Amino acid sequence: MEVKVLGSVSPYCNSSKNGPGFLVTSGNNKILLDCGPGSTRLMNMETDLQNLTIIISHLHRDHYSDIISSIAYTSYVHHNLGLLENKIKVYIPEPDYYTDHENYTNQYGQYDYRLVDKPILDYQLLTNLGEESYLEVSTYRTDSKIKIGDVTATFAYNPHNIKSHSIKLSDGEVSLVYSGDTGYQYNKIERLSSCTNLLICESTFLRGQSKGQNDYHLYAHEAAKIASIAKPDLLMLTHFWPTIDKEDYLKEVLPIFPNTIVAEEGHILKLTPRKNGSNKI
Ligand SMILES: [Zn+2]
Ligand SMILES: [Zn+2]
Repeated sequence: MEVKVLGSVSPYCNSSKNGPGFLVTSGNNKILLDCGPGSTRLMNMETDLQNLTIIISHLHRDHYSDIISSIAYTSYVHHNLGLLENKIKVYIPEPDYYTDHENYTNQYGQYDYRLVDKPILDYQLLTNLGEESYLEVSTYRTDSKIKIGDVTATFAYNPHNIKSHSIKLSDGEVSLVYSGDTGYQYNKIERLSSCTNLLICESTFLRGQSKGQNDYHLYAHEAAKIASIAKPDLLMLTHFWPTIDKEDYLKEVLPIFPNTIVAEEGHILKLTPRKNGSNKI
């Protein structure tokens, strides 16, 4: 497997940094984990749309907006021109609407309309795109397994202010985990990413910044604590504020988990199987 960083910042892109996106290549298959603003600028549309599967961690727009602004219409045009044979598969989380619409509460036990109504609008938007574009939009659940060629995608529930998932991709020899957006309390990333080759983990906040009353994102040092338990070969930090120097996040993490890098747009990582108990990347 090979991973290309398409985007590392949120909530907006600028001239050199894009919203969340990680393009994984395995054989003839491409798997795009999230599709944030500007992330498709680093895709080769002539080749990367072939055999493409997109998995969206959650329905916040910083994680899927380029499906609307770039992928959907390109798939429609390319198909009409005979340049795209297979529909692009898009997997989005099953909306809360189907499960506990009446009783959905936030982590403080209070009913929160945002948890229910907003994701439904996003869900309907993406589903309708599938009808007018050359996309096949499906839903997944936390216990789903999606097979894409030799790769299997599995999921774990994340604490966040809408339904959110961390995603594991494994071909049986190498694996990676992408955290999506997550709070620290009760996330299951440590278990999902135990002994993985690569953990791509959000680190939205720096020590000293306030999360307010919420625990919807990670401090950089919390990402490091997760990695120190899960012991991936490499931790790659992502989901930075666009104007903050990435080195600041790295400085907070390195004393806790030294084998850490920051996601940089265009960077490509090749994952290779473990040898003698040690993964090499
Ligand atoms: Zn989010
Ligand atoms: Zn986000």
